[in-house]
Amino acid sequence: MTFDPSLPSGQNASATSAVSKDGRPTYQQTYTIAPRTGRAVQLLKGDILTVTNPSGHQVCDFWAFRIPNVKEYMSMAHCHTALNNILPKPGDELVTNNRTAILRFLEDTSPGIHDTVIAACDAMRYQQLGAKEYHDNCTDNLRMALTAIGLSLPAIPAPFNIWMNIPVARDGAVSWEPPLSKKGDYVCFEALLDCVAVMSACPQDMTPVNGIDTQPDRLEFSVTK
Ligand SMILES: [Zn+2]
Repeated sequence: MTFDPSLPSGQNASATSAVSKDGRPTYQQTYTIAPRTGRAVQLLKGDILTVTNPSGHQVCDFWAFRIPNVKEYMSMAHCHTALNNILPKPGDELVTNNRTAILRFLEDTSPGIHDTVIAACDAMRYQQLGAKEYHDNCTDNLRMALTAIGLSLPAIPAPFNIWMNIPVARDGAVSWEPPLSKKGDYVCFEALLDCVAVMSACPQDMTPVNGIDTQPDRLEFSVTK
């Protein structure tokens, strides 16, 4: 079968959890991202998005797509160049695959350890780890969260893996470690363009990236003006 980046390999509640028909939120309302699922939210320029980690050990795979043309999206590889760094910090502007600033990273209450190197998990990744049945995954959560608000995923960008702890050694080796974030940690972003942000509560329970107990948990988010 021809590969189509927009088509999920399975289904979960991400497909039916839209915050509204077009993804526009109610300002200051707290939205929950159920464990193992994803949700999309439409941001207007100037909106502030806060993503909270209630358990402290849950990773958030995070993407942003410019609207109406979602073929332009936040690109970690382009951020590496723009920031001269692989670790975004508060004050940094995150850029698209067209090298345009789309989000400003405003605030981070955690120790600031995140990942911008590792691809989002997908069904094939879990098969390779030994899963016998369909396993929820961030790539499908992204696809479904976008479909739920009437958009189609144009490609699978590398995510900003918030709170994911993947140390990169001097020789380039990476390792899969539990998050260093704590209960209630949050990050804030300002939309510098109209865009759709997508967050997936990563369902990874076959490596310790969501904590040594490998128990995926929920996330929360809210939007303010
Ligand atoms: Zn994941």
